[in-house]
Amino acid sequence: MSESERGLHKLSCRRKWLIPTILSSIVLAVLVLSGCSQGETAPVATPSVNHGILQVHFLDVGQADSALLISPGGEAILIDGGNNDDGPKVVDYLKAQGVRELSAIVATHPHEDHIGGLDSVLQSIPTKTVYMPNAASNTRTFEDFIAAVNTSGAEKIQAKSGVNLNIPDLTGVFLAPNNSGYKELNNFSAVLKVTYGKVAFLFEGDAEDISEAEMLKNGQDLKANVLKVGHHGSNSSTTSGFLKAVAPQHAIISVGADNEYGHPTPAILDRLAKAGTNVYRTDQSGTIIVTTDGESIKINKTDSIELSDIDLHGEVVTITNRSNSEVNLSGWKLVSEVGDQTYHFPSGTTVTAGGSLKVVSGENAGAGADTLVWTQSNIWNNNGDPGALYDSQGKLVSKR
Ligand SMILES: [Zn+2]
Repeated sequence: MSESERGLHKLSCRRKWLIPTILSSIVLAVLVLSGCSQGETAPVATPSVNHGILQVHFLDVGQADSALLISPGGEAILIDGGNNDDGPKVVDYLKAQGVRELSAIVATHPHEDHIGGLDSVLQSIPTKTVYMPNAASNTRTFEDFIAAVNTSGAEKIQAKSGVNLNIPDLTGVFLAPNNSGYKELNNFSAVLKVTYGKVAFLFEGDAEDISEAEMLKNGQDLKANVLKVGHHGSNSSTTSGFLKAVAPQHAIISVGADNEYGHPTPAILDRLAKAGTNVYRTDQSGTIIVTTDGESIKINKTDSIELSDIDLHGEVVTITNRSNSEVNLSGWKLVSEVGDQTYHFPSGTTVTAGGSLKVVSGENAGAGADTLVWTQSNIWNNNGDPGALYDSQGKLVSKR
């Protein structure tokens, strides 16, 4: 991003930036939203479909937002796509999850840390529908995003309070924005509530106190089991009244380690703790995956996977899943550090909840249930050879 963009975003996050060009921006957004095309209506199956389960992945994109939903029927929805630099990483993650088409992209609002990577996604993965608020920005990032939307041929739908997101098995409804003009772009954030069975998720984007007050005033049903906390845990959001109405059991904060804004703030963490909410942070846990069958909720963080044993002589590596939900190892890799050799897990490889998986090598290596063959050659150096396991984003998960 350019220096001027960086400056704008920084100021906006501190809520001091008034948008002088809001009127022209709105005109641009109206133009942007007016040209609608029809998308395909057939459901899209993906290989990582887990029937009866809704998956919500909160991607570790540093100081930014990106969440991937995979419906019980296999339809994929992406809410935001990280910063500009995160684009390829988000695309790789989606592909590793078997996403070949997106039923919908929700671009919550025009700030770079939400729409920055979406142009890459739109250029790489066919997308049926793009939901976005009637807000615009005069940044290169926003122009790139709009150009990618237009080129993609996706149907454009204005995200605002009362608009439905139509995905089979799920109930999706936008709760905000409730107004057509705000001084702060963050308050244009498309706030989406997704319900599957008895379990509801609320994705706030960067909605701030003004938008939260409007949602409360509207008398909308804000109650949700899982809250994607507004504005990365800034003091601008998660007002007491709003938090009381949502009453989440779990809160996800998408935030970068040691970010310059001080997100999440001690005040917000304290407020969430006093409300009895479990807090999960992408800066501490990496990508966070929440799954639900519509009744119960399971939350797994990539740090629940461990390289539990390396038998150098027997050429057997054991990987254990200590979480209570299945973990998909598509796109993951295992590295023998001394030999400098890498094993790529085949797409669709999973480790069951509490289960383990073996990766074997050497002349006697044979495949079996929960056993994958790396190669018939010897990999591990018997004099000592650390192994390392990396997730689909190249992040070190476990080392032994
Ligand atoms: Zn943001």
